[in-house]
Amino acid sequence: MSNYHIKHLEEYFQVYRKSVRNPEAFWEEIAEEHFVWRKKWNNVLSWDFSKPEIKWFEGAKLNITENCIDRHLPTRGDKTAILFEPNDPNEEAQHITYRDLHERVCRMANVLLDQGVKKGDRVCIYLPMIPELAVAVLACARIGAIHSVVFAGFSSSALAARINDSDCKIVLTSDGSYRGSKTIDLKGIVDKALDNCPGVKSVLVAKRINTDIPMKDGRDHWLQPLLDEAYADCVAEIMDAEDPLFILYTSGSTGKPKGMVHTTGGYMVYSAYTFKNVFQYREEDVYWCTADIGWITGHSYIVYGPLANGATTVMFEGVPSYPDFGRFWEVVEKHKVTQFYTAPTAIRALAKENLEFIDKYDLSSLKVLGSVGEPINEEAWHWYNTNVGKKNSPIVDTWWQTETGGIMITPIPYVTPTTPTYATLPFIGIQPALMDEEGKELKGKQVSGRLCIKYPWPSIARTIWGDHDRYRDTYFSAYKDMYFSGDGAFRDAVGYYRITGRVDDVVIVSGHNLGTAPIEDSINEHPAVAESAIVGFPHDIKGNALYGYVILKEVGESRNRENLAKEINQQITEHIGPIAKLDKIQFVSGLPKTRSGKIMRRILRKIASKDTSNLGDTSTLLNPEVVEEIINGAL
Ligand code: ATP
Ligand code: MG
Repeated sequence: MSNYHIKHLEEYFQVYRKSVRNPEAFWEEIAEEHFVWRKKWNNVLSWDFSKPEIKWFEGAKLNITENCIDRHLPTRGDKTAILFEPNDPNEEAQHITYRDLHERVCRMANVLLDQGVKKGDRVCIYLPMIPELAVAVLACARIGAIHSVVFAGFSSSALAARINDSDCKIVLTSDGSYRGSKTIDLKGIVDKALDNCPGVKSVLVAKRINTDIPMKDGRDHWLQPLLDEAYADCVAEIMDAEDPLFILYTSGSTGKPKGMVHTTGGYMVYSAYTFKNVFQYREEDVYWCTADIGWITGHSYIVYGPLANGATTVMFEGVPSYPDFGRFWEVVEKHKVTQFYTAPTAIRALAKENLEFIDKYDLSSLKVLGSVGEPINEEAWHWYNTNVGKKNSPIVDTWWQTETGGIMITPIPYVTPTTPTYATLPFIGIQPALMDEEGKELKGKQVSGRLCIKYPWPSIARTIWGDHDRYRDTYFSAYKDMYFSGDGAFRDAVGYYRITGRVDDVVIVSGHNLGTAPIEDSINEHPAVAESAIVGFPHDIKGNALYGYVILKEVGESRNRENLAKEINQQITEHIGPIAKLDKIQFVSGLPKTRSGKIMRRILRKIASKDTSNLGDTSTLLNPEVVEEIINGAL
């Protein structure tokens, strides 16, 4: 029997050792026992990081939707697969059973086939968090089309760039979307994007907000009538394990978007196995990940991972602040959510609000809390642990990337003792290494370096769509025979990993490498501070000095700014040392963020070094207006 579900620390170490001693044998056993294949592989793994070329389960045949849907029908047909919670709390939630899901996916798949979509074609999905989004993703997988989901908060120019990069002929969208008290004209954004996308021949439009919108003759079609007419069963296309399943663009914190390509077999095995263990998922649980399906977190841990385990996965259309800041907790109580997975940006935003919004609700159903997307600062970690988890639900701080397809470094809840700000231990099968700038591996404990992975895992991205050279240069050229993540990390005395931020964000001050995350962590602990971001700027003597952008909790904070700045530096001196003191502190009302809520330090770096002539691609910014404000107030 394979070790599909790890239950205690001893077992973790034992399975981990097994998984790295003989990775092929380990993953073969997992793949064989827990998934349905139409044909078994000829070879478990072949790889060469110098090309790079990675193949898992070569020769195997399968369809991932048979694993995520069909195989559950005999035993879980009436179980809720997707629990849809709408933006408006007064609109009824929808329980989509595995049987319903099967029918809806088959109908959608037939509609796509009728539109001429074939195996290997790219389909752009630009939909809000409504059931059609998950259904469309699975329908593509059903017929072997490659989905490219673009987060429906991206602008028309960002959408056009992504459609053209992957040469999509068809776009799925909706008449509009709800976002808190606002409605967004999604179809209008698509129309504008398509002015620059000559390759798109058809647009399928789901109805969500029921507004009158222009439909272009011959190109645009309402989706529902087509679904109604479509046949309710659809034979699954038999795919090769290494056939592409999807393209997903990275969130765009650092520059031109990269279309990461994930393939079918390995991705399925790893997303499902990590889901089971990282969330300690059990049959009767109700699991909720608040991410959007437009991000990798939503692909792996709203759709594929949970459904491959026959889970009930919540899909939430709304935002944490609507109708008030208690919405998350209202939903947890209402659906008796057992696992709750969100991002530090959401936690920090909610931590600014009154605790009344939480205390009103019964959160006793919760067993596991998760965090992903950025380093979670210590204060936010404690707030989450105390107020949401009531110190009863372990927090899994999961480090991973669009490129990795699944969670890489993480505690296993009730198994790995947690420490705030530490992602703790590598997941089963993951072999991390910390490297110095000269290319030497830093072995041993209490070391900081660049975080690399030494050996392939099943869900590693296989290439960047249309640009294999960029894939090699970005991830495999820094260190021989290693995948380089671009992030820095510290390994402590017990072997726990702490992610210190992107390597680009490491600032060398007077010859000392300073990661930005621990300094921000220290600043955020000041009672008046809500959030902060640190960047380096050129300095005559030190080489670089630190510039801090700080958001205060109270807009009208009456205390003297100079004193606050002194206190902040005092705090940094105590926590980290005088070397990490900030030369400049600017108090701001907001920080430039990507649509996934991450701070875009690239822009802050330019402002700090007074180089604002060319700020680069800002099309993925959530709040471009704040950039102007920061430039005007720059020191
Ligand atoms: P781009 O690659 O386009 O700049 P991005 O890196 O933000 O965008 P993602 O793949 O969504 O796109 O994010 C992965 C990155 O998020 C990681 O490389 C890391 O910097 C950060 N990250 C994710 N989870 C964690 C975590 N638990 N702790 C610290 N950092 C994290
Ligand atoms: Mg990245």
